[in-house]
Amino acid sequence: MDFAFDTVTEDLRERLLRFMDECVHPAEPAFEEQAAAAGWSPPPLLDDLKDEARKRGLWNLFLPGAHGAGLTNLQYAPLAEIMGRSPSIAPTATNCAAPDTGNMEVLSMFGSEWQREEWLRPLLDGEIRSAFAMTEPDVASSDATNIATSIVRDGGEYVINGRKWFISGAMNPNCKIFIVMGKTNPDAPKRRQQSMILVPRDTPGLHVKRGMHVFGYTDADHGGHAEVIFEDVRVPADNLIGEEGGGFAIAQARLGPGRIHHCMRLIGMAERAVELMCERALARTAFGKPIARQGVVQDWIAESRIRIEQLRLLVLKTAWLMDTVGNQGAHTEIQAIKISTPVTVEWILDKAIQVHGAGGVSQDFPLAALWAGARSLRLADGPDEVHKRSLAYRELKRFM
Ligand SMILES: Cc1cc2nc3c(=O)[nH]c(=O)nc-3n(C[C@H](O)[C@H](O)[C@H](O)COP(=O)(O)OP(=O)(O)OC[C@H]3O[C@@H](n4cnc5c(N)ncnc54)[C@H](O)[C@@H]3O)c2cc1C
Repeated sequence: MDFAFDTVTEDLRERLLRFMDECVHPAEPAFEEQAAAAGWSPPPLLDDLKDEARKRGLWNLFLPGAHGAGLTNLQYAPLAEIMGRSPSIAPTATNCAAPDTGNMEVLSMFGSEWQREEWLRPLLDGEIRSAFAMTEPDVASSDATNIATSIVRDGGEYVINGRKWFISGAMNPNCKIFIVMGKTNPDAPKRRQQSMILVPRDTPGLHVKRGMHVFGYTDADHGGHAEVIFEDVRVPADNLIGEEGGGFAIAQARLGPGRIHHCMRLIGMAERAVELMCERALARTAFGKPIARQGVVQDWIAESRIRIEQLRLLVLKTAWLMDTVGNQGAHTEIQAIKISTPVTVEWILDKAIQVHGAGGVSQDFPLAALWAGARSLRLADGPDEVHKRSLAYRELKRFM
């Protein structure tokens, strides 16, 4: 077993680390200021960073195959980790940010030629952003078969009616296209009722109603998380992605890579937390000695290091399995990292916040915002309990 990165990964890691040190981290204070003033639009400095990332060949790294950089999951994993150290800036600057990444994967895997030309190309070029609309306020959406939005065929069109919320990115005016999941046939078998359809933002009847707060944060720099109403929205029939009844399967395929990307970035967030925790513990003195000399703080630092190394091994193994046996074959591991990574990184961030005292919960350090992000990922893309239920079921099945 070889734990070293291959030469392609090493080269990209070096270039990405240089980009982070030379461009991303120095831009963080100005980014915060611009984000506060920019409303729901992305801070303008992102455009310069995008140009720079592109020039440096750090673009669309997440996307395997001919449409993207063509990296394997195992090659992309350590790069996403580096981006996670500055999660508001680096993924967007390199066109590797959710939810566009998942949407680009859907279009590249299931989109028709026309759909790819119309929507995938500008997404790959970073000209527009996109949203994925599945969750609904009126039904328990962790069970995707509950999704109630209707998509009804009417001649050469589909008519869409429903209400969605927590639709990431949708508050950004440059979010031009929505992938919407709804029911085309409520009488079909449970997992064949749903379809996915493309809805351009400017379609009459689509109303972006309000931004949802996340622990008080607007996440405006990510385009927020919107409540969106679909009222007699009409789109041409060829906006349907894949076939009628294929929506559930597409949603499953979309979430595999998305989950591993989140986990990789979370590990980068944890590394940043440990770095800040150590610097602060060494810099502050209480009761006659640096805080770093307190046994309890050393315990948190040691535990954090061990937990990060454990997580990274599992995430890299999962990436390797996805490359070698496919997303379906790596199902258990994908669920295992989706369960273990956010909760562990949340624990590490909590300890880093504690070491910082009041500063830790303030806007002067990135820890509070990172914590809110990690905590939210125990819900987004499916709550912990739902993944545990399904993982346990597969484990039990082996003995039944
Ligand atoms: C920051 C953020 C961004 C998001 N972005 C998007 C987005 O871009 N697009 C989108 O469509 N959605 C998005 N979501 C929504 C997210 O995917 C849903 O919140 C999630 O799937 C859970 O659905 P729900 O909120 O309806 O919870 P519910 O389905 O109502 O579940 C509530 C709780 O019930 C419990 N529960 C449910 N089932 C079980 C079970 N089988 N066993 C034990 N307990 C159970 C769990 O504790 C769960 O948290 C986002 C959410 C957040 C927080």
